[in-house]
Amino acid sequence: MGRTRVVLAALAALALALGAAGSAQAGVGLPGVVAQVPTSEKVVFITIDDGWNHDPEAARILLEKRVPVTLFLLPGAASYDTGYFTRLTEEGRASVENHTVSHPDLTTLDAVGKDAEVCGAGERIEEVFGRAPKLLRPPYGAVNDEVRLAAKACGVKALVTWTHDFTTWGETPPTPRLKAGDIVLLHFTPTLAADLERALGAARAAGLKPAALMPHLKAAGLA
Ligand SMILES: [Zn+2]
Repeated sequence: MGRTRVVLAALAALALALGAAGSAQAGVGLPGVVAQVPTSEKVVFITIDDGWNHDPEAARILLEKRVPVTLFLLPGAASYDTGYFTRLTEEGRASVENHTVSHPDLTTLDAVGKDAEVCGAGERIEEVFGRAPKLLRPPYGAVNDEVRLAAKACGVKALVTWTHDFTTWGETPPTPRLKAGDIVLLHFTPTLAADLERALGAARAAGLKPAALMPHLKAAGLA
């Protein structure tokens, strides 16, 4: 079955290359790439990536404030302390989605490599969390139609990038004014608790509430 999937993905990639290049139809039928969700509701979407640092303070905030959050986890990062994340999904309002196995730029891989990274991660996340992920955050936000095609073959309904990165990478970034439908990017780093508080404060300042991503993607016809 795995092999059939790879062959189909390879054939479809070929068809895409032959038929869709330069066409206005390029990308039709492929899962969309979403950096911001069209919505009339006063909501923002908090997403947290990778999973290498398991800060108890960040978990406490998410659980106590009942923050709906989407976690794009690397299976390897989740595997050495699975309980940290299952607590967030079982006692909190977190859902776990796909961020590949080893965090490559998917646009640089062939069809077999894309399949191994995306389907492979999906299978491992499903084993641990009991639900097959339907969303993919492509590492570095790197996407093209072939990545979308590979994602589709792995059951992905939408590729989710972000509107604003609140992660402290060395320096704390300036806090933007959030708008309805914005997707906030955070990471499981040692500064997550502070970064999360900054994001929640920015949401409050803009009169917006964190909301679950998938139902809003569905409502917008994007998943
Ligand atoms: Zn990442």
